[in-house]
Amino acid sequence: MTLAGAAVRRNKAASGKSQDVSGHRSALLLAWYDRHRRRLPWRALPGETSDPYRVWLSEIMLQQTTVKAVGPYFEKFTARWPTVAALGASSLDDVLRMWAGLGYYSRARNLHACAAAVLRDHAGVFPDTEEGLRALPGIGPYTAAAIAAIAFDRRTMPVDGNIERVVSRLFAVEDALPKAKPLIQDLAATLLGPSRAGDSAQALMDLGATICTPKKPACGLCPLNDNCAARERGDQETFPRKAPKKTGALRRGAAFVVTRGDELLVRTRPEKGLLGGMLEVPTSDWLAYQEDNAARAQAPELKVSRWHRKAGVVTHVFTHFPLELVVYTASVATRTRAPAGMRWAPIATLKDEALPNVMRKVIAHGLGDLPG
Ligand code: SF4
Repeated sequence: MTLAGAAVRRNKAASGKSQDVSGHRSALLLAWYDRHRRRLPWRALPGETSDPYRVWLSEIMLQQTTVKAVGPYFEKFTARWPTVAALGASSLDDVLRMWAGLGYYSRARNLHACAAAVLRDHAGVFPDTEEGLRALPGIGPYTAAAIAAIAFDRRTMPVDGNIERVVSRLFAVEDALPKAKPLIQDLAATLLGPSRAGDSAQALMDLGATICTPKKPACGLCPLNDNCAARERGDQETFPRKAPKKTGALRRGAAFVVTRGDELLVRTRPEKGLLGGMLEVPTSDWLAYQEDNAARAQAPELKVSRWHRKAGVVTHVFTHFPLELVVYTASVATRTRAPAGMRWAPIATLKDEALPNVMRKVIAHGLGDLPG
């Protein structure tokens, strides 16, 4: 037996629960879902069939992003590209532009690659198994399980952050994340009923988002409150247990906001790596403990009468490190040519470009505002 399997057994034994309890829980959960399900733009209404395209698009957008932030982007994408085939036939530039502001841009590139693969290799129809879905670009184990369960009603349980929290509380899982993931996955699967796998998963997601919240869970309203180990102990908020976070060291650098009339000097970042393929103003390297002068010395080679150092700094937190940028501004003569690898872009249309949030902050800091 695997360690996780043994732990599942231990948990069940320790709480004296049987298969009947699991069945009872899944029935309670589905009955609660039928009354309290959230209305979400990508979710089929009761009695409707889920559209795999909408399920997939929402799952990719929701990775590391909130439901509230995703809503308008989802509407924009589906209005412009109503089917996966339409998205697959679009250009990567258009997708990146539309994605700008949602962050984690490798998702946008994978989104485009995935749509193109579905169009090219599957005649515009998503595969209906976890295995087939996982073979597509940007679809990992969680997303494959989510699409398989929600769009195709495959009997599988995708475990997102909300489900992790609910399950770790229901079973009082003492192991810390991320080590506890396989155990939580196995325990979550015990909440699947004989049918309606997608609804079971969405019910747990909704329960985590609306009732079993990180702080002050509303246990009195929870359909599973009779069988919740953490509630019995009264320490619900301490779950899931988490290993201490290792944050990267602060990196520092300089950004150069150079105008030529109503244009701004920009360049495109390399395809691979952080913010790959996105637009930026020229910057120095981003290094830990970099001195201001060393960063300032990496300004683009231009005839500039004087660099102005803007007061304050722009801060941004990436997943692995926080960043602090000093912003220098300058304006140059009308005929000035852009240095190699850079170009002049009209300031008025910048908001439509694939500009990551950190660059929006830098430009707004340098120009006083980002037009539009
Ligand atoms: S009883 Fe409370 S802690 Fe337990 S699952 Fe329900 S909301 Fe979460």
